[in-house]
Amino acid sequence: MSIQILAPNVVDQIAAGEVLDRPANLVKELVENSLDAGADQIDIEFGDGGRSVCVSDNGSGMSRADLELAVLRHATSKIVRSEDLYKLSSFGFRGEALASVAAVSRVILTSRLKGEKIAYRLQSEFGQLSEAAPISASEGTEIRVEELFANIPARLKFLKSPAAENGQIKTTLKALALANEAVGFSVRSKGELLMHWPKGQTFKERALSVLETDDLYYGSYELEGLRAEVLVSSPQETANVNRHMWFFVQRRWIQDRSLTAAVMEAYRNLLMHGEYPTVIARLTSPTEAVDVNVHPTKSQVKFADPQLAFRVTCRAAREILEKSPWLKPSDSPMEQSGFVFQPQDHELQPELPLSPAPAPVNLQFESREFERTQYNTKAFSVPSVRDNVQTYRPNEEKAFQWSDLQVLGQLNNTYILAQTRDSFYMVDQHAAHERVVFERLMESFKAGNIEVQNLLLPLVFDFSAHEVEALLKHKDNVEKLGLSVERMGPESLAVQAIPSIIGESAVSEALHKLAFELVENQGELAWEKSVSEIFASMACHSVIRAGQTMSHEEMKSLLVQMDQYPLSSFCPHGRPVFVKRKFSDIEREFGRIV
Ligand code: ADP
Ligand code: MG
Repeated sequence: MSIQILAPNVVDQIAAGEVLDRPANLVKELVENSLDAGADQIDIEFGDGGRSVCVSDNGSGMSRADLELAVLRHATSKIVRSEDLYKLSSFGFRGEALASVAAVSRVILTSRLKGEKIAYRLQSEFGQLSEAAPISASEGTEIRVEELFANIPARLKFLKSPAAENGQIKTTLKALALANEAVGFSVRSKGELLMHWPKGQTFKERALSVLETDDLYYGSYELEGLRAEVLVSSPQETANVNRHMWFFVQRRWIQDRSLTAAVMEAYRNLLMHGEYPTVIARLTSPTEAVDVNVHPTKSQVKFADPQLAFRVTCRAAREILEKSPWLKPSDSPMEQSGFVFQPQDHELQPELPLSPAPAPVNLQFESREFERTQYNTKAFSVPSVRDNVQTYRPNEEKAFQWSDLQVLGQLNNTYILAQTRDSFYMVDQHAAHERVVFERLMESFKAGNIEVQNLLLPLVFDFSAHEVEALLKHKDNVEKLGLSVERMGPESLAVQAIPSIIGESAVSEALHKLAFELVENQGELAWEKSVSEIFASMACHSVIRAGQTMSHEEMKSLLVQMDQYPLSSFCPHGRPVFVKRKFSDIEREFGRIV
């Protein structure tokens, strides 16, 4: 066959296959057009797995002439020159969406330019365009698409089930709503209102209503003009899929492995294997730092400096996570109800005396520590009001402090029982201590001053010959971890010094882990990453175990130490350190309040 220039309708169909790869993308293109038109209210209706879609907006509208041009290929009002591609302020720029959809469906476009009295309507029957005719309609634009892909049966076969396509449309609309909190959206299917987000919300309000959650924490970070704003869930609120991580660049919803990795990095040591947080990360930068024209459906972008994007995202998330904001009840709407959280501040709040001292309970403990606890409880519940009256500031918010907890006792030799004025806590003694030791090791490692103890008798461990070589080759780095090693034989090493806060029993596993990593990665191991794993292992084997009796002082001292490190609410393996119950919840359970 000789070469022929393709007929325009064939070209349009090919383009439609790329731009509108599935109905959700049609919805996205139409909504983005409404956003580009400056609408602040967009109403979407869809059915039949997205084969019929109607999007109407209160945006700028189009004149009759523009309406006729809008459905032609490469017709756009958004760019003129190719340089414009690098300073885009609109979602659209290719002028292909409407032409594509007009080629593969029955479309009715109705639009009334702002300030004009009359609207115009134009139809396309699978590429056969009608002339624009006057009609009465409100200002703005409505685009109604029916029988999508009916003229290309081959494409229809590639559509998933209507339920799956509907699901993808809803996800796409959530993404558009997450990125455009100023704009109101309503979403209907088969006449039923599925989702509704009012205009003029804040980023956080919008996120909470779109994701139907009540706990997200805001952080931001900016470097070299690239700014990341994140909303993150507490590490306790996790899912076993990474579907709840949303990324936006210049308000475009994108998929990006590197940004996903950046967020997971921020949560390192806070999540267990296979757990994923809820995160929304929005990046904005000078437009020339991002190329958005690299993907047919614009679902990927190219950063001029991908490393920078990684760093900014990771830092924004990490900084807010390190503040452990979920420990500050002021963030939680339930606890915002006018009651100021001041754990153990009974002395500062004469009007609100601490609930009566707990009556002696008999949990059938044999331990003497428990008796001591009872005694302390009593002493504690006699507030000396007068001395502190002048410092009483009822509305001042006080950050949560572990050391403010009133220790009640130890449960099953495993959990520290404690209370504040409105909540009951169980702290996992092993997990808590593990976190403290881990953070202390990390901190002194970063400062380059791990305190070591020299062993009177060196510890000797067997390794493979490869492992011995690898460890000795990296002797300097190993030393920075507080471990000094010497060769004993071709397959054994002697350890002469270890970090002073760890136990001798913690060395073997940590060193074997390290040796394994060094051999596996041929020395190219990401050092920083392994360090935290090695320290996590050291901490785990050095600390108070479950089943170990703790004195009241030991428990108190552990809580004090927990205050010294951020993130103390999770052990280095990501297990929670504590469980908290509000008294009001407990009272509800006992039917005292309803
Ligand atoms: P692009 O968005 O890339 O410019 P489209 O094919 O999506 O291409 O739209 C073509 C043109 O039609 C747009 O540039 C815009 O001028 C106009 N247009 C499309 N949808 C709307 C709308 N909802 N309101 C106002 N103008 C619109
Ligand atoms: Mg467009």
